[in-house]
Amino acid sequence: MINQNAYALGANRSCIRDLFEYGCQQAAIVGRENVYDYSLGNPSIPSPREVDEAIVQILRDTDSLAVHGYTSAVGDYDTRKAISQDLNARYGVQTRPEQFFIGCGAAPELVAVFRALAVPEGEILAIAPYFPEYKPFAQEAGLTFRVVPPDVPDFQIDLAQVEAMVTPHTQAILLNSPNNPSGVVYTRKTLQALAALLTEKGREYGHPIYLVSDEPYRELAYGVEVPFVPAIYPNTIVCYSYSKSLSLPGERIGYVYVPEAAEDSAVLYAAIAGAARAAGHVCAPSLWQKVIARCAHLRPDLEAYDRNRQALYQGLTAMGYEMARPDGAFYLFIKAPGGDAEAFSEKAKEKNLLVVPGTGFGCPGYFRICYCVSRDQIQRSLPVFAELIREYRKEND
Ligand code: PLP
Repeated sequence: MINQNAYALGANRSCIRDLFEYGCQQAAIVGRENVYDYSLGNPSIPSPREVDEAIVQILRDTDSLAVHGYTSAVGDYDTRKAISQDLNARYGVQTRPEQFFIGCGAAPELVAVFRALAVPEGEILAIAPYFPEYKPFAQEAGLTFRVVPPDVPDFQIDLAQVEAMVTPHTQAILLNSPNNPSGVVYTRKTLQALAALLTEKGREYGHPIYLVSDEPYRELAYGVEVPFVPAIYPNTIVCYSYSKSLSLPGERIGYVYVPEAAEDSAVLYAAIAGAARAAGHVCAPSLWQKVIARCAHLRPDLEAYDRNRQALYQGLTAMGYEMARPDGAFYLFIKAPGGDAEAFSEKAKEKNLLVVPGTGFGCPGYFRICYCVSRDQIQRSLPVFAELIREYRKEND
């Protein structure tokens, strides 16, 4: 007998993967340059040069057994110290290495956090639009997954909806800013208002409502502030990843941070470490931990993403497409002409333009494009976007 939930997750490919595979097939027929693939969020800027240099230095200067051996289950102390020092210098906070758990990227970190919070009848609220993997992560952990409707058209947070949905069983609210798929950065004002609401509700229910802050895109912001969430609301658990910030998605490295000021901080930290242990996810890749110990202070050079972002935002809004301000990450989340994003995506596909419908992100009627692509693709695809919106307008005339 086979677990049917696990089977369904393994057997049904995600819509994003389907589009990506379709793009590969089409590329073989019409040529790569004639497929405008905006489906996958794979970074398109190289890692900073210092990352590669660190690998070479580590391999040259460190005993091979030490480089490739097991580390402490929660991560090398030096790595945790480097991360802690970087955050302290950057945000004026006072974190300690003992509050960090080194994980294999945001995905398994979220799974560990959800498992640590999974009490009987426990529930977690995601704010739409949200990263689709949250749902299986939460449900497999044993939490009830509920979705707060989107705050259209700006995609901040509809606090009245949050207030209406929080119950005594709410263990946590999931936060992702800069956001995948909207590209929106939650403002300090939004976060402060959310913190006030959760503080009040936590008091009323007699237990903390944690914020789980999923932060793979923290460093990808274009001229706006990305507030450090634990400094606004201490009951925050940060899940960070170097997948996007240092363009290392294949290397599987990141961390969980549990602030000392969080309620039940020590128990919570131990439960996260325990949940990771139960999932077999301890002792993140040793070489990469050593790289992060040397590179935790590095930030990406965002120039190429920013150029793409501006070219698409300006080009598409001039054509009449509508979207929230894409201040972060590398996504635009666009209102589908005609209102049906699935139909729009199918129509676009016929022209080899691959965009992801928003239904899986909890936001039907919108589609996502990921702009970690070449400048050339953007220039060649803009006329296709123009053609599509013209066709929709003609249909409605
Ligand atoms: N959370 C969000 C919002 C993401 O977009 C992604 C990956 O695209 C992840 C988590 C998973 O990231 P990681 O590669 O660190 O597991």
